[in-house]
Order: sequence, then structure tokens, then C-alpha cells
Amino acid sequence: RAKELGRNQFQYFAKDIKQALQRDLVLLTQLRRAILQQQLTVAYQPKVRTADRSLVGAEALVRWHDPTLGPIAPAEFIPLAERSGVIAGIGELVLGRVIGDLLRWRAAGLPVPPIAINVSPRQLLSGGFAGWLHAQLQQQGLGPDCLIIELTEGSLIERGAAGLKVLGELSAQGFSISIDDFGTGYSSLSYLKRMPISELKIDRSFVHGIADDGDDQAIASAILSLARTLGLTVVAEGVEDLRQLQALCSLGCSVAQGDFFHRPLEAAEFAALLEGAGLRAAG
Ligand code: C2E
Ligand code: MG
Ligand code: MG
Ligand code: MG
Repeated sequence: RAKELGRNQFQYFAKDIKQALQRDLVLLTQLRRAILQQQLTVAYQPKVRTADRSLVGAEALVRWHDPTLGPIAPAEFIPLAERSGVIAGIGELVLGRVIGDLLRWRAAGLPVPPIAINVSPRQLLSGGFAGWLHAQLQQQGLGPDCLIIELTEGSLIERGAAGLKVLGELSAQGFSISIDDFGTGYSSLSYLKRMPISELKIDRSFVHGIADDGDDQAIASAILSLARTLGLTVVAEGVEDLRQLQALCSLGCSVAQGDFFHRPLEAAEFAALLEGAGLRAAG
């Protein structure tokens, strides 16, 4: 009886694994094609000042809508891309789109804030990344101050000296570095002292309960005071309602990002927002 149950469970398991592998295989095939055909797009989620909701920047987020599979979340295809090595192609495509948009917005006379891009560990450590990135911008007459590089703790600390070296190179090229999903990496904080970092993003898992949960408040408050001491900017991620915003304001968090202010926007929608911001600044 137990044996039979065990065998059934095993078959059940094996079926799950097989299905997951098949899904990955289909996704990877389609993703390779999407990269070749340049079908990935980028959405821009504004970062705003909590005091007056004015625009201070935006984060570029990759979007993939497959003609047969439909929209696929980055949380599903980015890890797969990282494992299989196609992440470099995604990184290049995203950077190309961001540079193209930056040039178009500038040509239109829009007040363009720095745009944050997410860089995967594998891309970061692929060798010569900092120089490559700098050259991509320079070819188009853009400087390193038009981008912010978002990295997760894992991509730096787990890679030890190699991560530190690339960070030094990025900083030497003039790039600002932001630590994404801060507080989820289980890492020692000593790297903050040794590394050229300018911004911490409070992970949205801590922002979620910030209006009611004492633990979330304590964590956010600790991050904010750490950042003040080290002279770093703090951005709260994933703000979804007014109570979260009020709690963050009372803790002294000056910049935030989230669906409460703006969901990730198509390039044209973001440009319209920049146009409004420019008019407000002028008038
Ligand atoms: P992330 O860098 O932490 O990006 C923030 C994520 O939070 C985005 O998910 C964004 O859409 C989502 N978000 C923003 N506001 C809210 C909110 O109010 N509520 C909730 N529930 N979510 C909110 P997205 O676009 O699905 O991306 C997920 C992750 O995939 C990103 O997390 C980042 O790690 C990765 N990713 C996205 N684009 C790229 C890219 O171009 N390159 C690389 N390497 N990774 C990327
Ligand atoms: Mg990010
Ligand atoms: Mg994040
Ligand atoms: Mg996150």
C-alpha cells in the first residue's frame, strides 16, 4: 500500500517536472526568436518625490508579449534567460531601446531624468561590461549620468572580488549604482562601506505591510537611517496605496515608486508625462 502510494507520488512528481521542463523549453525557444526579431519592449515606471509626487526618474522594465503564449512576466523569463545565457541578448536589446527613447525624448526637448536599468549578474560579470556600456552611450553622444545601474545584492556579494571589481569599473566610468530589492539578500552590510553605491531600493515585501506591521516599519526605518549615515538615496518600491505612502513619509523616505503613483508606462505614455512635467517646471 505504502509502496503503491510512493510510486503514485513519484509518477505525479515526474509529471510535474516534465511539464515544467517542457514549459521552459517552449519559453526558451520563443524567447530566442523574440530576441532575434527584437520583439521585446520596455516599460518605464516613474520614480517620484514623496513630498509632491514630482518625477525624479524612471526604471526601465523589459516586456515580452509572445504572439501565441501571450504576455510573459519577467519573473518567469529573466531567471530562465539567466540560466541559459540568453540574458546578454535581452540586456543589449533593453539598452538599445532605452538609448533610442532617450535620444528621441531629448530631441523633442523633453526634460529627461536618469533612467534606471536592471542588470543581471551574468551580464554584469561577462567581462568588459562597464567599458561596453560606456561605449554604447558615448557612440550616441550620451554620458553615464543618463543611466542608473540597478543590481541586486546577490549579484555583487556572492561573486566576491569579481563583483567588487566590476562595481569599481562602473563607478570609474561615472555610473551611479543602486541596490535593488535591498534587504532580501541576507548579506553582510559591510559591502556598503567598501562599494561605490549611491542608492538603496527598499524591497516591496517590506513596503507591503508598512502601514500596520511593526516589523516592516522597523526594517524600513533601519534602512533609512543607514542610508542617511552613509549619504545614500532611498527609494521605496511597490507603493500601492495612500497609507503606505503616509507611513513612508513619516519615516522620512523621500523617493518612491509603485502602482499608486504610476504603473509601468509605455514609452509614449512616459513621454507625455515628461511633457507635462516640463510644462509645470516652466510655468
Ligand atoms: P525589480 O527590478 O525589483 O522591478 C520592480 C518590479 O515591481 C516590476 O516588476 C514592477 O512592475 C513591479 N511593481 C512596480 N510597482 C508595483 C506595485 O505597486 N505593486 C506590485 N505588486 N508590483 C509593482 P516586473 O516588471 O514584473 O519585473 C520583475 C523583475 O524582473 C524586476 O524586479 C527585475 O528584477 C527583473 N527585470 C525586469 N526588467 C528587467 C530587465 O530589463 N533586465 C533584467 N536583467 N531584469 C529585469
Ligand atoms: Mg529594479
Ligand atoms: Mg526591485
Ligand atoms: Mg523587487
